[in-house]
Amino acid sequence: MENLQPITFDGIDADSPLIIAGPCSAETRSQVLDTATRLAEKGIKVFRAGIWKPRTKPGGFEGVGSEGLEWLKEVKELTGMKTSTEVATRAHVEEALAAGVDLLWIGARTSANPFAMQEIADTLQAMGADVPVLVKNPVNPDIELWIGAMQRLYNAGIRRLGAIHRGFSTYGKDLYRNMPLWHIPIELSVRYPQLQIICDPSHIGGKRELIAPLSQQALDMGFHGLIIESHCNPDCALSDAAQQVTPEVLSFILNTLVVRDKSHSAENLTLLRQQIDGIDNELLEVLNKRMKVSREIGRYKKEHRMPVLQSSRFNDVIASRRKLGEDMGMSAEFMKTVLLAIHEESVRQQIEVLNERP
Ligand code: PEP
Ligand code: MN
Repeated sequence: MENLQPITFDGIDADSPLIIAGPCSAETRSQVLDTATRLAEKGIKVFRAGIWKPRTKPGGFEGVGSEGLEWLKEVKELTGMKTSTEVATRAHVEEALAAGVDLLWIGARTSANPFAMQEIADTLQAMGADVPVLVKNPVNPDIELWIGAMQRLYNAGIRRLGAIHRGFSTYGKDLYRNMPLWHIPIELSVRYPQLQIICDPSHIGGKRELIAPLSQQALDMGFHGLIIESHCNPDCALSDAAQQVTPEVLSFILNTLVVRDKSHSAENLTLLRQQIDGIDNELLEVLNKRMKVSREIGRYKKEHRMPVLQSSRFNDVIASRRKLGEDMGMSAEFMKTVLLAIHEESVRQQIEVLNERP
């Protein structure tokens, strides 16, 4: 994916974050037009609405289908906004493009399915389509599956290709509807620096109150935009009611967000980055020193026929270091991850010593 192009539209400032907003689902003509006119009044330029809805269980609202595409046409005529919708099959792609939809997105259940992705890619290629496409991360935290979904579209000639981070499913209830696991979109942007990544705080948070903090976090991390669900009457929404906000509340939230200036960062940070490089080297040396001591302990255990793992010692080490780290201002979660990783490597090194030939 070497020749990716940014997701931009004529008349939309390419230097500001791309904001896409609209209801989870198109429900009725009046709901769509009411929401769209109010969003347009607040300066939103790209409208979203799900026409075909992939619901976890049967019996829920599965979208209005093709009829809703007529309403999206009206949105364009009435407000001048660009329109976007989710596609999951050949027929969806053909119908959406025939109706003049300006941007397509692929849902999280579809990007997890290589057959569906290939069908969508083949359809776009057969139509010679040059439409921007945003690919949501698959429901499961598998970065290769996410990349694979995008590669299929890229191979089909789609260059205005972007990603949407919408969080990852977990078992059971959590603060978030879908865990953000920020390191995954960060790794994606490290591997594909040209790829634009948009954040979907509505589906990550699952509740209105989380839209603002998640959006700010995404902008602070350098995400290229936000896709946020907004409904003229959120409490009565037929899908995802708890996470939708009115166009007016959305506008209020957007006005509170601080957009970081990316143009200054690189030069001014050179000195600090050099410091970080030096500290990282020191860190690795200290870690290596620790591993050498671990190997010594391994030799002692071998001579005395002791087992490598001694859980009481392990628990003491973790607890005391964790406390120390927390007192220094590092999070408990981070300390746990680091200490367990160091311990795992120490054990691996001791087992290596155990298996050394005399
Ligand atoms: C949506 O955007 O309404 C949607 C269905 O999202 P996801 O695929 O992220 O669940
Ligand atoms: Mn939704």
